[in-house]
Amino acid sequence: MLYDGKISDINDALGLHRITIKNHGGRLRSKSEIRVASLFKTAPEAFLKMICVHELSHLKEKEHNKAFYALCEKMEPSYHQLEFDVRLYLTHLELCGKLYM
Ligand SMILES: [Zn+2]
Repeated sequence: MLYDGKISDINDALGLHRITIKNHGGRLRSKSEIRVASLFKTAPEAFLKMICVHELSHLKEKEHNKAFYALCEKMEPSYHQLEFDVRLYLTHLELCGKLYM
């Protein structure tokens, strides 16, 4: 997992997931990578967990559909609460500035 300072548009994606396939001496290897917006460095750990769970689920389900949220909840039972809290936190960042230094 990597932090990415370029991911900053809070109305857009907070994380990115990517699967790259590389050719290693004739053998194909796939590598999954998850990038998370740098703002999560200073956010509560539960928020980081939420975004990781979200991106991990995307490795299996691309859309935000029922199967996707089922995966999220399987990994993190309080996923929906956390997602709500993260939105609230981001709104706070936007309106009032940094909460954690
Ligand atoms: Zn998503």
